[in-house]
Amino acid sequence: MPELPEVEVVRRGLARWVRGRTITSVDILDPRSIRRHALGPEDFAGNLEHATVLDVVRRGKFLWMPLAMEGTPAHEPGTGVALMAHLGMSGQLLMQDPHVPDEKHLKVRLRLSEADGMPEQLRFVDQRIFGGLFVTSLVPTADGGPGGLAEAPLPEIAGEAAHIARDPLDPHFSFEDFYRKLKSRRTGLKRALLDQGIISGIGNIYADEALWRARLHYARATDTLRRADALRVVEAAREVMSDALAAGGTSFDSLYVNVNGDSGYFARSLDAYGRTGQPCRRCAEAGLAGVIKREQFMNRSSHTCPVCQPRPRNGRW
Ligand SMILES: [Zn+2]
Repeated sequence: MPELPEVEVVRRGLARWVRGRTITSVDILDPRSIRRHALGPEDFAGNLEHATVLDVVRRGKFLWMPLAMEGTPAHEPGTGVALMAHLGMSGQLLMQDPHVPDEKHLKVRLRLSEADGMPEQLRFVDQRIFGGLFVTSLVPTADGGPGGLAEAPLPEIAGEAAHIARDPLDPHFSFEDFYRKLKSRRTGLKRALLDQGIISGIGNIYADEALWRARLHYARATDTLRRADALRVVEAAREVMSDALAAGGTSFDSLYVNVNGDSGYFARSLDAYGRTGQPCRRCAEAGLAGVIKREQFMNRSSHTCPVCQPRPRNGRW
């Protein structure tokens, strides 16, 4: 699964190439990739053809492009439609010139109006078909703030993303709101970090990394968490994702807007995830003998250092 920094890489890359351009035609090469569009392929293409891409917006791992329909006067925020891109396990959005041969797993092609020096096609490529594209309605945001990270943020959000909390990279993320939700639930800290209704965009890798940086155990009970601990874990999540984003920044200049869940440049900076059996870097610096341990948790694995992230006595998950 792509993690939040990778989806943000895609958002920034796409925004640079598609904002303000009109979709001139749509080729659906595999209808399975638009199965989430309930009204079918013709309706999907009909919605997109002659629509102009206004922006590329992301909240958590949800990514969408608000559209202006041809001949329709400017609409109030929260009343329009958007093209939603669900990347799934292996979905990629690629900008390509027409002479570039079709990719083996090309599913949908959007041709865009000509723009100086910019590639003409936006291609959705997906090897495993868990991802897909669909057209969805925009709704006003519950808090009146921007829907998510965008080039020109508006107080509207794709209907499918309306229920999820803001992510730690969102400038409108509210720590007070997050802390109130944490305190009101009787759950374990990692479970809460993975709950999109409490905080969005944190997957298994970044949950482990944020907990390691904050020196907190995944089973720590959230209702006993002090404000300073909660603040530390949010700051840690923001830092580790910002670092990953900075490391992946080189791909912004590429035409090849790529999502790959196991990109090497993101893995380099990890301190806990995937380091089972290796010395904890913080412990090693302090002359301690902590070794990263892997445990099963929520059908996934959790990576912790038993020395600097001790299991709480009152922990539960
Ligand atoms: Zn340690």
